[in-house]
Amino acid sequence: MEQFNVASFDVEEHHRIEAATALNCSPELKQDYARRMEHTTRQLLDQLADAKAKATFYIVGQIAHTHPGLVRDIHAAGHEVGSHSWDHRRVHHFTPESFRDDLLRSKHALEDVIGSPVVGFRAPTFSVMRQTNWAIDVLAECGFEYDSSIFPVRHDRYGVPDAPRSPFWVTGHSREILELPPLTYRVMNFNLPVAGGGYFRLFPLGVMRAGLSQNARSLPPAVAMLYFHPWEFDPEQPRLPLKRLARWRTYVGMHRTTARLNSLLRDREFSRAVDVARAIKASGVELPHFQL
Ligand SMILES: [Zn+2]
Repeated sequence: MEQFNVASFDVEEHHRIEAATALNCSPELKQDYARRMEHTTRQLLDQLADAKAKATFYIVGQIAHTHPGLVRDIHAAGHEVGSHSWDHRRVHHFTPESFRDDLLRSKHALEDVIGSPVVGFRAPTFSVMRQTNWAIDVLAECGFEYDSSIFPVRHDRYGVPDAPRSPFWVTGHSREILELPPLTYRVMNFNLPVAGGGYFRLFPLGVMRAGLSQNARSLPPAVAMLYFHPWEFDPEQPRLPLKRLARWRTYVGMHRTTARLNSLLRDREFSRAVDVARAIKASGVELPHFQL
């Protein structure tokens, strides 16, 4: 089996980020972020087209209502449309029943716009964790073919540090689903979350590249799942009034992201996550099983 790289984009307006949940943004600011989200996502579509790369977009369900043309254009360009929940609340806010409603609401809203099944999911802030393991059962029951929400790292807000770093079957309570975890770089018994975020914006691109190379050398199926957000490619956007650490984490290195993405897109091939998930299943390759 070959090695796969996936560029995924979590499509949300900037004010929806976890660090901003306590803030009360004005309707004008939210409108501005919504306009910027569409503009930047369209720039990313152009960038992907120039590099002849296909990507996966996990989209907040409400955006299917507010920006149906954008969602349709993402799909029409040949990219995968996946779900990023209905309104970007973390899984911790739900019961299994209310999570099912939220998930189906986003799935159906996106499907209505693109006229195709939505089978991939990314939880807001990687919030599929031990205490929300029932989410796996709900995802399997709702017809999702794979999930990409379990980050095998130690972090203050998310992560399952002992989860496998390569594709695996994850069991919640009684159902299982294929998991495509974001890329980590194993150094001195630590899993560094080099798939995106600060590791993409702050550190030299060589750190992410080292993670990609290490992944390419790992046992098949080797899948390097990267993640980005449209707002990370908009250095001019108005800043949210975040506390100091959150502010630094959120805005560091934003002026170099477009060039960095370009460089990544040009030196390797990228596939849609759904195609990778199907190729893995069709190959019959043995994957680890992991009880969340
Ligand atoms: Zn998100």
